[in-house]
Amino acid sequence: MTTQLHDTPAARNPDQRRTTAIVVGASLAGLMTGLALSRAGVDVTILERSGAVPRTGAALGGVDESLLERITGRKLSKTDSTALRSVASGVQTWSAVHARLRTAVAADPHITLHPHTSVHSVSQDADSAWVITWDNMTFRGDVVIGADGHRSVVRNSVSPEKPDATFAGYVIWLGLTDEAALASSGRWPRDVAFLSGIDDYLLGYPLPGHDGSLAPGSRQLGWAWYDSSRNDLLREKGSVVRNVVHHSLTSADIPEATFRELADTANALWPSPWREAILDCIERRAVIGTPIAEYVPDKLVNGRLALVGDAAHVPTPMTGSGFSASLHDAEAVAASVAAGVRGPAMAQALRGYERQRLNSVRSMVQSGQQFSRSFAGRAA
Ligand SMILES: Cc1cc2nc3c(=O)[nH]c(=O)nc-3n(C[C@H](O)[C@H](O)[C@H](O)COP(=O)(O)OP(=O)(O)OC[C@H]3O[C@@H](n4cnc5c(N)ncnc54)[C@H](O)[C@@H]3O)c2cc1C
Repeated sequence: MTTQLHDTPAARNPDQRRTTAIVVGASLAGLMTGLALSRAGVDVTILERSGAVPRTGAALGGVDESLLERITGRKLSKTDSTALRSVASGVQTWSAVHARLRTAVAADPHITLHPHTSVHSVSQDADSAWVITWDNMTFRGDVVIGADGHRSVVRNSVSPEKPDATFAGYVIWLGLTDEAALASSGRWPRDVAFLSGIDDYLLGYPLPGHDGSLAPGSRQLGWAWYDSSRNDLLREKGSVVRNVVHHSLTSADIPEATFRELADTANALWPSPWREAILDCIERRAVIGTPIAEYVPDKLVNGRLALVGDAAHVPTPMTGSGFSASLHDAEAVAASVAAGVRGPAMAQALRGYERQRLNSVRSMVQSGQQFSRSFAGRAA
């Protein structure tokens, strides 16, 4: 089969073009990197294997609003700022953050986003770097940035000697409930709840409603339940193979007996309103089980290829720092690409990105590993 060269700005204007970047992945890190690169004067093509909204995470802690404003180049809308006033500090719904980044990307004439475009492999030579998709399209640029998450394809080419994130030894059950679905359960939580059982942790997040509203009756509760007793189930379902995380458990993957055990444990362990929120999600079969992976990078860059976000470093969510680390990666890699402009200086400029970020992101992941080892060890 002949590989087709996609009509990127690089292909259209070979002599008069601006620097071009191909970004793989349009989740939070990919969108932020696209915006930062565009701001630095780069033409950006973002490739995303999913559709318009690649993932529906629940809550996101550690969101620095001023950094988010800086990366989107936009002040908060009235709805956003109303929501932020009384939601727990730094906590947002994943979908609200993603929607804001998507809006900023859609309005940017220097960014083209291709949904339903899955990257298969990555290559480079002295003059350019390129990706080939599963449907045999080639996208070529001055650099390729991997923002393709913990199972990154780009990482295979940046760090072939250490390509995989490894299973941290526990799953997080995740759910999101509308306030309207809860029977009146007393006072609405004002801040993030951090609760501990014998072998379990629960993080609970009070969140605005789907439209950003904080009006009583229209809000949401998000929860993340850390459970180290389900590793046999994860392996049986192929969710974890040897020490590599392959996929999350959807509700269809979760056996009825497991739902019943979770409901019994929730009744025994967790106080109101978190118990009711969990039971509502179990009843609706609206629970996802995400096995947690970790990755301490030795490299962030190889020639014209670079990694950002979870492709570069995967900390346990307990650190609450994956999002802000991705944002700092985006800004730092964009500054380096802008410094490299075009030509052989690009690889050297990207090494500046690695020098700036590597030690700090390694420490971030390592700090979370101490928690993971002690938590996963409880069920051993
Ligand atoms: C359960 C959980 C809770 C978390 N909670 C927090 C928190 O409270 N605070 C915090 O700061 N961080 C948290 N994190 C981490 C945070 O969500 C991430 O660090 C951050 O969102 C950056 O993710 P990412 O964009 O790099 O990767 P992902 O969100 O994994 O996105 C990767 C994207 O690349 C696409 N992709 C993958 N492969 C290909 C391919 N071959 N071709 C094309 N596209 C591809 C995927 O479809 C996806 O859209 C949490 C993570 C998890 C799992």
